[in-house]
Amino acid sequence: MNDPVYALELSYEEWGEICTKKWGLPKYRADQICQWIYDKKVFNIHEMTNLSRELREKLVYDLMILPPIPVTEETSRDGTKKFLWQLYDGERIESVLLYHGSHTTACISSQAGCPLACSFCATGGSGFRRDLSAGEMVGQLLAMEKRAGQNISNVVFMGMGEPFLNTRAVFRSITIMNSPKMRNMGARHITISTSGVVPGILDLAEFPIPVRLSVSLHAPNEALRSKLMPVNKKYSLGSLVDAMRKYQQKTGERITLEYIMIQKVNDEPELAYEMAALLSGIGVYVNLIPYNPVKDTYKRSTPERIRAFSAILSQLGIENEIRKEKGTDINAACGQLRRREAGN
Ligand code: SAH
Ligand code: SF4
Repeated sequence: MNDPVYALELSYEEWGEICTKKWGLPKYRADQICQWIYDKKVFNIHEMTNLSRELREKLVYDLMILPPIPVTEETSRDGTKKFLWQLYDGERIESVLLYHGSHTTACISSQAGCPLACSFCATGGSGFRRDLSAGEMVGQLLAMEKRAGQNISNVVFMGMGEPFLNTRAVFRSITIMNSPKMRNMGARHITISTSGVVPGILDLAEFPIPVRLSVSLHAPNEALRSKLMPVNKKYSLGSLVDAMRKYQQKTGERITLEYIMIQKVNDEPELAYEMAALLSGIGVYVNLIPYNPVKDTYKRSTPERIRAFSAILSQLGIENEIRKEKGTDINAACGQLRRREAGN
């Protein structure tokens, strides 16, 4: 018997080759199967009724369609849904589905756990297990769409893990999601969030699909950033800002910055001044996000402190917005579900 083909890992070109060369089928069969998977969210080959019974019986052995298996699904008061999934080897990951009026956002994981251990993050606190494959990332989107009964309009790589420590698989998953004959998700609807892994930012500048970039800044100077985010010891804030400039020169794209507001840690007014100086000459949009407390050591900034910080940035010409929290009552922030299920 041939080795099975893992459907969700395949690019459109590979589908064509496998159908024609490996299975001796006409190429349109690839389009038919992709329509079942990507449009209709049908993952059971027996339900693909425009394939002959004979072909279906053959494909059951040759083709594996393995979206993640749902373990739990929670819905918060604001409608945000959080999913815990199990992968083929028992690893558990999470995804979040956010509703914002006319559009919906799937927040997906790129790794099981995360090796970067940011001091404020539940994922970082629970260690690193492994990288996800492209199909495991595509699978999170499809499995959420199937359960929600609708297509999701946006994807953000902001779940568990650091996308730029798994860049090849992340780029492959984007190629698959973006492919017109597959999921056909627009590039402008996809965002990668990085903690500041510089080589990944430079790779993204060369990547042909113009997805959006979001950088988790969280501190405007080296000392504080290294304290909060150990990744800063490897890729300093200086080198991060240089990479952002290079990325912008190459792509002309504005960069979103995430800044979680932690009471009396990174929300002092002088840090807003420092941040504006750091970012001068770069086109950015700053999201100020109230910290979702997962550790006793850190508290969320008060609304007054967040507003004061925001006002200083605005005065200094840094466009910014105070983000509304979503899904806080079900802990729908980075890495929190897996931690709770694991009982720690
Ligand atoms: N590793 C990537 C992407 C996943 S984390 C990154 O760090 O950017 C996605 C976002 O959630 C990051 O901006 C991260 O800093 C933020 N985050 C982590 N823990 C959080 C918490 N408890 N409350 C609010 N945001 C948090
Ligand atoms: Fe990893 Fe991002 Fe969490 Fe930091 S914030 S530990 S980089 S997932």
